[in-house]
Amino acid sequence: FNIPEVKNEPVLSYAPGTPERKELQEKIKELRAMTVSLPMIIGGREVTTDKKIEMRPPHDLGHLLGHYYQGDASHVSQAIDAALEAREKWSKMSWQHRASIFLKAADLLAGPYRSKINAATMLGQSKNAFQSEIDAACELADFYRYGVKCMVDIYEMQPESSKGIWNYAAYRPLEGFVFALTPFNFTSIAGNLPVAPALMGNTVVWKPSKTAVYSAAVIMEVLREAGVPDGVINLVHVSGPTAADVVFNHPDFAGIHFTGSTGVFQNIWKTIGENIHKYKTYPRIVGETGGKDFIFADNTADVQALATAFVRGAFEYQGQKCSAASRVYIPKSIWPKTWEAIEAQLKTVKMGGPEDFTNFVNAVIDESSYDKLKGFIDDARTDADAEVIWGGKCDKTKGYFIEPTVILAKKPDYITMQEELFGPVVTVYVYEDDKLDETLTILDNTSMYALTGAVFSQDRYSIEKIMDRLENAAGNFYINDKPTGAVVGQQPFGGARGSGTNDKAGSVFNFIRWVSIRAIKENF
Ligand code: GLU
Repeated sequence: FNIPEVKNEPVLSYAPGTPERKELQEKIKELRAMTVSLPMIIGGREVTTDKKIEMRPPHDLGHLLGHYYQGDASHVSQAIDAALEAREKWSKMSWQHRASIFLKAADLLAGPYRSKINAATMLGQSKNAFQSEIDAACELADFYRYGVKCMVDIYEMQPESSKGIWNYAAYRPLEGFVFALTPFNFTSIAGNLPVAPALMGNTVVWKPSKTAVYSAAVIMEVLREAGVPDGVINLVHVSGPTAADVVFNHPDFAGIHFTGSTGVFQNIWKTIGENIHKYKTYPRIVGETGGKDFIFADNTADVQALATAFVRGAFEYQGQKCSAASRVYIPKSIWPKTWEAIEAQLKTVKMGGPEDFTNFVNAVIDESSYDKLKGFIDDARTDADAEVIWGGKCDKTKGYFIEPTVILAKKPDYITMQEELFGPVVTVYVYEDDKLDETLTILDNTSMYALTGAVFSQDRYSIEKIMDRLENAAGNFYINDKPTGAVVGQQPFGGARGSGTNDKAGSVFNFIRWVSIRAIKENF
């Protein structure tokens, strides 16, 4: 098949004086000056209720961005009905028409909507301009364009035939609707989870995170302008339990595309298991569920590169990436030099609202996240097994600000070496140089997660050994690079163990989950 060339969307710099910076600053001003009211979108209808929920920037709680309308169980039912109705036509539409809608959506995101999707992400989710650009504009456009390529790659996968026998595969959508439950931390993930199944011909009920409704509304606006027909993707704003109650009891529930916490995903899996007899088909369960991502250095590591990976990997987007470096193992012999290099970089880090483009670190997403992080930091200050060696100040007077914080753990299983904190807090364990093997075993056993990990070493034998030893500890492994920032089409993303089903977002491995294959044989 032939499709337009697919390439990663180039990342704009937003350097002072660039036109993109001016446009984005104007868009931020514009969005700050309005007070929006965001409806649910069900079967193409804008649905409002009498329950309005306020939206405020996490870094500027005194400012009202607007409201969204909160629905109830009846809205989830309506969304399912709309999805099932739309499925009649959408599931039969030829792939070229589906493809062209999402290619257009990518162009809208990369073009006329670029500043709006970035501004909504920056204000709504407290993300700096660069972090928003690589996420909301570029990665989301990449997801849609590579999605089309993956779809075609799948459709082209055909079995062998032989003389007198013709075999072929028909890649049909699942029988029923798909539920997309999306997180706050990446606008690109929020925009990809409902679209990936839709691209393969499914119809979807989409519940975004309550802390990322603003950018979800912009995604929906883009999708509608691109021509996604009514009912193909239905956006509802309801509580998790309300959605779960209706969705997982419905006979036509055919799959869930999820990114969020391990606890929620495990509960979903259990609920689906308990209800399995109610469904027409075994539902697809695809989830990415967090990490306790590591950097492991040996004593040949390039200290400067390691320091940069440490600061960027741990603190970009306030450490609120599933992939963020949150436990770091460094040998004693290079620790003093490494820390000196890290400290030099940390001294340059500025914190504040993303409207000021010089701020690298912004606020964490909400009060419960703030309280949880502050709790871990306070505990580390008084615990004999830990020491807070950088940052640690927390202040929620204006917004949910937590300083980039480094904890030194005196034992390798200290609580913050194990638990996912999802914030700008990283823990370092300094190991004896002659205890590398034991430390690898400890690393492998300390956490339930296996999402991303990085090794820093200049010794090829050592890199190979560490990678072998940590074979199952990360779904995405980086050599001499930070463990964040997977690029669609280049590093298929996902982890195993407690981190998810490893169905690699944005790759054929993910898209294949949204089809039900019919193998056809005919004799001549
Ligand atoms: N894909 C992102 C990265 O590589 C992380 C996505 C997530 O936080 O779930 O940094």
